[in-house]
Amino acid sequence: MGWEDKVRKVVPYTPGEQPKAADVVKLNTNENPYPPSPAVAEAAARIAAETDRLRLYPDPKISDLVNAIADVYGVRRDEVFVGVGSDDVLAMLFMTFFNSDKPILFPDITYSFYDVWADMLRIPYEKVPLDEHFHIRPGDYKRENGGIVIANPNAPTGALLPLTAIEEIVAANPDSVVIVDEAYVDFNGVTALPLLDRYDNLVITQTFSKSRSMAGLRIGYAFGNAPLIKYLNDVKYSFNSYTMSWPAILMGTAEVLDTEHFGDNCRKIVRTRAKTTERLRTLGFCLEDSCSNFVFATHPRVSAKEIFDYLRANNIFVRWFNQDRIREYLRISIGTDADMDRFFAVLTPFLQEKGAL
Ligand SMILES: *Cc1c(COP(=O)(O)O)cnc(C)c1O
Repeated sequence: MGWEDKVRKVVPYTPGEQPKAADVVKLNTNENPYPPSPAVAEAAARIAAETDRLRLYPDPKISDLVNAIADVYGVRRDEVFVGVGSDDVLAMLFMTFFNSDKPILFPDITYSFYDVWADMLRIPYEKVPLDEHFHIRPGDYKRENGGIVIANPNAPTGALLPLTAIEEIVAANPDSVVIVDEAYVDFNGVTALPLLDRYDNLVITQTFSKSRSMAGLRIGYAFGNAPLIKYLNDVKYSFNSYTMSWPAILMGTAEVLDTEHFGDNCRKIVRTRAKTTERLRTLGFCLEDSCSNFVFATHPRVSAKEIFDYLRANNIFVRWFNQDRIREYLRISIGTDADMDRFFAVLTPFLQEKGAL
């Protein structure tokens, strides 16, 4: 077919499976096992009572949500950008700021969407290998580049780069925009937000999908200096002015203002993560302490694929990446204590049967 020569051909990102069965334990996409704030349900009731408002276009400036985020995080309103999940925010950032002939840089093991966006947008890139412990070496990012993107804590390793190292990278690259993707920062990470005043090339992204229990609503946001956010908005308005629906703005605003419920949820996950880490080590798994809502573990005696397949056959979904360097690892999202009990109730006898305990 002649027209196929003119197609933008891409290899799409593969999202984690969303199994349909009801009784699965879903530990494969880092969703939050707890519901969002009760204020979100109240907002939803208001939406149900006012469906007539759906006739109208939503606020293109997303003011209520932008203002709520700015107030809660103590930044100026012109330093906040909101989009349809941080995936949308990141894609807009790539489009807006990565327009150089020089390659952008990101780790070889990181969020697997970065190379998909770079390929789709024809942005040259280089993957910078993590060290043998899967840690970022800041010195590797001190060379000519078209931009930098770093997830901190990193995915799927859960490793945290200290703020001093982030600052080292941002400071060494005044001529490039450095994106710090903080999708998991609320689970004992360290935000780069304090650096915002000093570096005009820094942009930070966060999401409602993990710590805020709202992956289904699709809300993400970015912090950056006002001129940077202005450039980002210019591209957004040139693409789609009404990115956020009225229900999303209303429910998102309700969630962000309930800081107490949010803090409690995050602390519960961190507690369950500590217990899970210990139990996995008791079963012989090797894993570093994680700063996210998942752990990244390998077993020296049983292959990760084999464990993954067995768990899946028993309705326990975790994530396995068929990728160099991490083929022997499983990424296990932290669920409720009851979820983790079910996970171990399937895993432990399997390892015993394999003679691995
Ligand atoms: C989950 C995730 C995102 C995207 O989340 P959204 O649901 O699009 O907000 C971005 N970056 C990393 C590292 C993630 O793990």
